[in-house]
Amino acid sequence: MPDAPIDRLPPRLASRTRALRAGEPGPRGAYVLYSLSGNLRGHENQALDAAVALGNALGLPVLAVFELSERYPFASDRHHRFVLEGAREALATIRERGIATAAYVHRPGAREEATPRLARDAAAVVCDDQPTRSYREDRSALLAATAERETPVLAVDASCVVPMIQVGRAFDRAYKFRSATKDQRADRLHAEFPPVAPRVAPDAGTLPRTPTDLDAWDLGELTAACEIDHSVPPVPDDPGGEAAAQTRWAAFRDHRLAGYAARRNDALQDGAVSHLSPYLRHGMIAATQLAREAAAQGGKGPEKFLEELLIWREMAWSFAHFAPDHDTVDVLPDWARESLDRCALDPRPALYVWETLARGRTDDAFWNAAQAGYLRRGYLHNNVRMTWGKALLPWTEGPDVAARMLVDLNNRYALDGGDPNSYAGLFWCLGAFDRPFDPEKPIFGRVRPRSTEVHAERLDTARFAALQTRRPAGEMPRVAVIGAGPAGLMCARTLADQGVAVTVLDKGRRVGGRTAAKRLWADVHADHGAPWFRADDPRLAPFVESWLDQGVILPWDPELTGDDGRYVPVPHSRALAEHLAADLDVRSGVRVDRLTRDAGAWSLTTDAGVFGPFDRVVVAVPAPQAAELLAPCPALAEAARGVRYAPCITAMARFAAPVSGVPDVVRGNGPARMAIRNSAKPGREMNEEVWVLHGDPAWSAEHLDDDADAAAGELVAAFRQRVEAPEPVAVTGHRWRYARAETPLDAGCLFDGDAGVGACGEWCLGGGIDDALLSGMAMAGRVFASEPDIAARGAPRTVAATEPIE
Ligand SMILES: Cc1cc2nc3c(=O)[nH]c(=O)nc-3n(C[C@H](O)[C@H](O)[C@H](O)COP(=O)(O)OP(=O)(O)OC[C@H]3O[C@@H](n4cnc5c(N)ncnc54)[C@H](O)[C@@H]3O)c2cc1C
Repeated sequence: MPDAPIDRLPPRLASRTRALRAGEPGPRGAYVLYSLSGNLRGHENQALDAAVALGNALGLPVLAVFELSERYPFASDRHHRFVLEGAREALATIRERGIATAAYVHRPGAREEATPRLARDAAAVVCDDQPTRSYREDRSALLAATAERETPVLAVDASCVVPMIQVGRAFDRAYKFRSATKDQRADRLHAEFPPVAPRVAPDAGTLPRTPTDLDAWDLGELTAACEIDHSVPPVPDDPGGEAAAQTRWAAFRDHRLAGYAARRNDALQDGAVSHLSPYLRHGMIAATQLAREAAAQGGKGPEKFLEELLIWREMAWSFAHFAPDHDTVDVLPDWARESLDRCALDPRPALYVWETLARGRTDDAFWNAAQAGYLRRGYLHNNVRMTWGKALLPWTEGPDVAARMLVDLNNRYALDGGDPNSYAGLFWCLGAFDRPFDPEKPIFGRVRPRSTEVHAERLDTARFAALQTRRPAGEMPRVAVIGAGPAGLMCARTLADQGVAVTVLDKGRRVGGRTAAKRLWADVHADHGAPWFRADDPRLAPFVESWLDQGVILPWDPELTGDDGRYVPVPHSRALAEHLAADLDVRSGVRVDRLTRDAGAWSLTTDAGVFGPFDRVVVAVPAPQAAELLAPCPALAEAARGVRYAPCITAMARFAAPVSGVPDVVRGNGPARMAIRNSAKPGREMNEEVWVLHGDPAWSAEHLDDDADAAAGELVAAFRQRVEAPEPVAVTGHRWRYARAETPLDAGCLFDGDAGVGACGEWCLGGGIDDALLSGMAMAGRVFASEPDIAARGAPRTVAATEPIE
């Protein structure tokens, strides 16, 4: 009987490998597949080495495949870019080692999963043994794909020094973990992992679909093409990849490690800690290398570093391995859960919604500074992270909401978010991996309390806040956004939250664009633009939840369909735009006529004078108007010109008595395509009956040059023929020449990188406010990606070779 796959591995690799499916390698398999996911490195990658060793034993080549979906939690430009940079470099290194590679990056038109198909044709499959949910799911998919042929699947721990499977169980206290793993640590601390050389020539065979050539793509373009959250930009200072990790480690090891014990808790000393956690998170550097080299140096600093790396980090990893619910609040010990539940109704000093927290807009300057680090640098010093996390309990409705916010804010923004260490740190804030503290305190119960006020006393908040921003304000690009509709405002706010100096110019007297509301009398408004909106895209979900919680919007189901996914801003349509514009520099009543470029900067000619200079210009107006402004960028102008619009004449009618016997929305085929009882919308204070009627597009086109009030009168007459309505007291009309895009581009946004000019609006993606918001986010993403320090990183590689490792 031939050896099982694990038995064909050298002992140093076999001891970190488990068979998810044992058995004989498939006789028809043409290669050993290595699915590269959590360990994006070509050096000292024990999983890759295991695949090569197995391939050598079987006389087969190895195919290393990397596949990136758009659907992992909190997928964004930040995470995608970091991971793609790492993958590009790792695959290049792997090819240099004589191993075939293939990459698949999902995006519209290229979403068919390739790895399971490749796994089906493999003799054996090797994957990274990572304990968090998405990696578990990947492994399940591999097992399902190989079930029919009963192909062996091996999972290799290339993340820890003491392999998780050797730890044997979950430990919830560091001192217990330390003593239980002492001998294993001593045995493995100095282990070397020389690369296993392939003895079989590379051969990728026939690939299921065309792979993504990461060397040929500009990674900014590739990221922009993916359907992910474009509002979280890449971090300029942290390029992904092995070379960056090795450079960082070498500098830290040689200059900072010795002083680590003394300085690591001072958040003002940015260089005192290694900043390697994002690289460890994605396996861009081996923990085995760090441990070996730190141990070789010896002394207090290295000892403390090894305590963090080998005790705290590895306790979290093995815990997650043996406790699948490590990423939920179920991880809390009973004493903490019971005590927090007892305090759930304790009065809170403030309750903040996600949007306020995410943007760092609480009333606590220290906490906001900490959050700015997450938001802008994708990083928060670990010592402050604990105080930051503890603050969420008093600001949310109890441990479940606090836990949800902790995970969201950390994993959305932190480059190292989402690994077992993150979860351990976050849930420590709620009592996990800790002991009870008596007597019980309000809100925290027996959980160790920690306050921002106390922390702020020993940390200069102003200096800390300055450190947390990406770059000094003077170095950030100056951006003009033309158009204060939902697209322009979402774009502007996303940019401003990252410290970009943004000026918004709009020809209207008020913000909101086509989410318009007209004041009829006193505080009574009629929504004569968009009557409502939907927001089904998951990328909008946290915003919508926050707007609902703050009362900025309310759900409305006027046709009683049981559909609660339609929203109206409160107290009128424009309110959402006003909310978005709240802390932006908006110049209303300024019509932009022309864009002019002089000496690399843009100036805008308007009816109120010339504005500028600007480094980037965003045109966020309806497509036909955008086409005019985009004259300096002919390709963009051409694309905008091709978008067709439906016009709409709207009538606002005020009645002295209710229009009875009809629902709040009446649809029809005549001139008035839709009538909406504006006064029935939630959150309106109206004791008089107001209706808004929308003209049919064809009818509106015919009457576009008529007097608006006269056309509105015709709409009301048509409405009164259909329903029994009294004579209106007053009728006002409005002509929307460009009401809704009929032939959207399906492009997110448009951007000319050389010119630094972009265009966004609902017409890039669809016809609704949700499309406008998403397009504004996409636009902000393109502006961030065009920043020189990020753009240079994304350019296609001219050489396939990896940078030399220092
Ligand atoms: C009658 C009607 C019904 C609608 N129904 C719905 C619906 O049911 N659901 C839905 O989701 N959406 C609906 N919409 C569409 C929705 O309003 C738009 O999708 C959304 O407003 C688009 O946002 P935007 O930011 O792209 O553009 P806009 O909202 O049009 O904002 C563009 C802004 O640019 C400004 N501007 C234009 N040119 C210049 C210039 N040269 N200089 C300075 N400023 C300029 C304008 O003043 C405006 O404020 C409707 C629209 C209308 C008119």
